[in-house]
Amino acid sequence: MRSIVYYVREFLRPEWLKDFFFVKTAPLETPSYFKGYPTLTDKECTQCLTCMMICPAPGAIAVLRKKDRWEPEIYPGHCIRCGLCVEACPEGVLSSGRILDVTHRDKTAFSSWYRLEVDDTLCMRCGNCCVSCPVNREVDPQLAGTGTSASDEVIMRIEGGRVTILHEEKCTGCKTCETNCPNRAIRVARMVEGVQGEEAEA
Ligand code: SF4
Ligand code: SF4
Ligand code: SF4
Repeated sequence: MRSIVYYVREFLRPEWLKDFFFVKTAPLETPSYFKGYPTLTDKECTQCLTCMMICPAPGAIAVLRKKDRWEPEIYPGHCIRCGLCVEACPEGVLSSGRILDVTHRDKTAFSSWYRLEVDDTLCMRCGNCCVSCPVNREVDPQLAGTGTSASDEVIMRIEGGRVTILHEEKCTGCKTCETNCPNRAIRVARMVEGVQGEEAEA
């Protein structure tokens, strides 16, 4: 009985009643690290494919032609909401949670590219990698017929009896060269680097 009286008295204290009925909770703020599925801003996509290059989840993002413009499409069943595409896109086409606010504030970004490595001890100089590369074939259509290229604009060509890499930066990471090498002598590695300051704003 005494305990009931105690509780009733406690609950009827004016401070308690004031807190109970008029308490105010601060507005809910989205934490800076929150990452949802990427959505589109209204910035123009330049089809640089950086977002696809950096995405670690297979089939999560594709840059598609939509009428008169390019547009990245996110596939939620595959996307793991890491936000890397948002941070890497140089045009600010994608957004997710507060990632863009934070990266702009801190002047940070990700830069990614593909590195090509040829193991000379395994390479038998057949040139399959150079001939099958779709970028090479587009740059120098002669390559498919002749097997060699005189163009300085190709990604790689057989030169001096070995595969020479000329324009690694043009590689799209399709791995066709890896697939077509009979000796697994060529490797395509995705490289990612965090950048800050002027480099991130470029
Ligand atoms: S958020 Fe991550 S997993 Fe999703 S599309 Fe972007 S890079 Fe790929
Ligand atoms: S990184 Fe940005 S600009 Fe480049 S293809 Fe993806 S969405 Fe387009
Ligand atoms: S990964 Fe594709 S684009 Fe890059 S060098 Fe190999 S075949 Fe060419």
